[in-house]
Amino acid sequence: MESAIKAAILQRDRFTCIACRRRTPGKIHHILSPRLGGSNEPQNLVTLCGSCQMLASPIPVATLQRYFQLDERELLRRKAKVEIAIHRWVLRGPPLTPPPPITSEPSRTPKPPKSATRRTIVKKKARPRQGRVWTPDEDAALVADFHARLPFEALAARRGRGVFAVHVRLHKLGLGEVAHPYLDDLP
Ligand SMILES: [Zn+2]
Repeated sequence: MESAIKAAILQRDRFTCIACRRRTPGKIHHILSPRLGGSNEPQNLVTLCGSCQMLASPIPVATLQRYFQLDERELLRRKAKVEIAIHRWVLRGPPLTPPPPITSEPSRTPKPPKSATRRTIVKKKARPRQGRVWTPDEDAALVADFHARLPFEALAARRGRGVFAVHVRLHKLGLGEVAHPYLDDLP
């Protein structure tokens, strides 16, 4: 695996084993094994510590029992805990459903001026920071929200900006590679 991919995954997972939550220099684990067609895309990769990676691997139970000095029942229990943590991580992941379609088609009936005014106000409130320079505080909050795996719409809403602006900013902050699988969420 390329070291750039490994570094991006470790950074995304904050050098923390996703199973036991211990800080770790990190092993990268394929959720779906490459032998079964699993890819090197970020959604198929998680950070595990050395012990949890061994427990998640296809190493024979007898070998693991000798290594960890555990009876079979306790070993299987620990193995199951790691596997459940990995499954939970997958289920928590970014939404795979596309965002609702943008209804920008102009309506045929002319709207009364009152309604048009209200719509302008709503639009201005939706993106109060649009076009402004990003402050270090905003960058830090954006990166934290990104690592918390919020969907792009939520990242944009929290920063008071558009989805595209947030995507461009993440690229500038060096999170482009990690952001890539979420590109499907863009309108
Ligand atoms: Zn662990």
